[in-house]
Amino acid sequence: MRLVLLGPPGAGKGTQASAIVKKYNIPHISTGDILRANIKKGTELGKKAKEYMDKGLLVPDDLVVSIVKDRITGDDCKNGFLLDGFPRTVNQGEALDRELTQMSLKLDRVINIDVEKEVLIERAIGRRICKNCGATYHIKFNPSKEEGVCDICKGELLQRNDDTKETVEKRIEVYIKQTKPLIDYYMEKGLILNVDGSKSIDAIFKEIVKALQ
Ligand code: ADP
Ligand code: ADP
Ligand code: ZN
Repeated sequence: MRLVLLGPPGAGKGTQASAIVKKYNIPHISTGDILRANIKKGTELGKKAKEYMDKGLLVPDDLVVSIVKDRITGDDCKNGFLLDGFPRTVNQGEALDRELTQMSLKLDRVINIDVEKEVLIERAIGRRICKNCGATYHIKFNPSKEEGVCDICKGELLQRNDDTKETVEKRIEVYIKQTKPLIDYYMEKGLILNVDGSKSIDAIFKEIVKALQ
């Protein structure tokens, strides 16, 4: 199964992605996670990306497109993959289509999770990420058992640099201008599955699984 997860920052893409990849046994490809890993390692790509990410802006298309091209041609993607946070511009969507066509492959579904702005801000500001394993929590909506400590690996929970009110608002603005047009792009291809992201994590997951059957 080849899936894309679309939605504004804080909508719950990463959270649903973790559950979906477990169920369908496909790799989770999050461009945000890959870029953050590069920042942590101090690579050239990470240095370039950080300038944009800290401001809430999109990293240039050519950088993320080449990451994804490399990744989806990997052996572990033979049975499919889940793209989370890519594509984010129509240009990226077109580049993905060209690459898949070359590989004689097609996307199966584009899951579009939407939530109203106030909720997005509250979700992103309360988000906490495990420093070790990347598991995502929310201080109010999905808290860890012990405050500040990952349930899975006991790692320290941290807030992302770009999860401040100001930067989240900027990212939502960027989403509306640059990413939202992708909904129409995939609608025309008949691929969109709209999901109401204001429901509970479990309810959303059940809805997605049902629709993918
Ligand atoms: P969120 O989960 O809040 O939607 P991500 O972790 O997906 O955020 O992305 C964080 C940041 O990484 C974005 O604000 C952007 O700067 C950069 N980024 C991630 N994916 C892409 C992409 N496909 N194109 C351009 N920039 C990206
Ligand atoms: P995205 O990848 O779209 O930016 P995340 O999956 O990281 O979003 O979720 C953003 C925050 O909201 C996280 O702290 C997460 O625990 C929380 N969250 C995700 N889905 C829900 C939901 N359905 N209800 C309440 N909180 C949620
Ligand atoms: Zn952890």
